[in-house]
Amino acid sequence: MNRQYNFNPGPAALPLEVLEQGRDSFVEYGGQGMSILEMSHRSKPVETMVEETERLLLELIGLQGAGYRVLFMSGGASAQFALLAMNFLSGGKAGRYVLSGSFSEKAYEEALAVGAAEVLASGKASGWARLPNVDAALGNLTERDTAYVHLTTNNTIEGSQFKALPDTGDIPLIADMTSDILSRRLDWTKLAMFYAGAQKNLGPAGVTAVVAREDLLTEANAKLPTIFRYGTYAKNNSLYNTPPVHAIYMMKLMLEWTAAQGGVAAMEARSAEKASLLYDAIDASGGFYRGIVEQPDRSAMNATWRLPDEALEKAFVQEARSAGFAGLAGHRSVGGIRASIYNGVEVEACRALAGFMNDFRSRWG
Ligand SMILES: *Cc1c(COP(=O)(O)O)cnc(C)c1O
Repeated sequence: MNRQYNFNPGPAALPLEVLEQGRDSFVEYGGQGMSILEMSHRSKPVETMVEETERLLLELIGLQGAGYRVLFMSGGASAQFALLAMNFLSGGKAGRYVLSGSFSEKAYEEALAVGAAEVLASGKASGWARLPNVDAALGNLTERDTAYVHLTTNNTIEGSQFKALPDTGDIPLIADMTSDILSRRLDWTKLAMFYAGAQKNLGPAGVTAVVAREDLLTEANAKLPTIFRYGTYAKNNSLYNTPPVHAIYMMKLMLEWTAAQGGVAAMEARSAEKASLLYDAIDASGGFYRGIVEQPDRSAMNATWRLPDEALEKAFVQEARSAGFAGLAGHRSVGGIRASIYNGVEVEACRALAGFMNDFRSRWG
């Protein structure tokens, strides 16, 4: 097979080793005489696999034994937008939302459909070119009037990323980390809960990892239908109903691969190298390529940029596609070019793309 340089925004590139391992165990799993797709979710091998996946994720982020649980849920990160509000918006407190891009707006809108939600800070006036100042906005919030603060750590569509987590003190901080989980070291203990649809850094689509402090789970709204309560998933080790077993298994393989590369610290170094290859090509282009997000807020996961006009952007995407680079068209709401360089994308892919960018500019610039 002639594998493409895959810059898809999600579902996205997975390491070839992970795909091959998944293939090799697809028909028969662990000497059981059947595929993992055919096994009961209550069988010992599946139960063990789910437990190991939870442990691996907590180990990678250094939260093993720190009072956090991992829940494996369905409905993508989008379902979490609604569920977290349903579980935690009560008692007259508001959820406070940091708006930094379109996914954060969606999270906010879902909360509005559930209860009291307020905008804490917004970068919308800059056309999402800059991140809002969260620390300044936190000033007069108290735990008495705020159920949680919600933050999107990486803005997948626009291409911006918070470099550090804000300090919310007693107020639970909840983060959508779908597009940058496991890509860098962070003070994870600042987070009461974070979640990520798997299809960017964690594996295939179909499962969402929710990592939450145990005390938060027990405080969650008990009046919800059972299936919507986080507590149900915690109590039943994500096996209350049939979970997406195969997607969790693929996540396990991806987590093992991440650990074998050197874990989160290695992913951080790799991400920095990949991102600078692309941003250097942008910044050295004499204005032919222009970053969409201002420099200090640029994402190490989704690089976005424009060319002098839309016709050139079209030509860039088309030529790139013929040269073996997939997934580079910007999101329809932003336009331009977007290269998504998640953990599964190799440094070599970014080096090749930077080379293509220089070549394209020398011909069209
Ligand atoms: C991709 C993405 C989502 C949407 O995820 P689904 O699994 O499709 O619901 C939400 N938030 C962020 C930050 C994303 O990157």
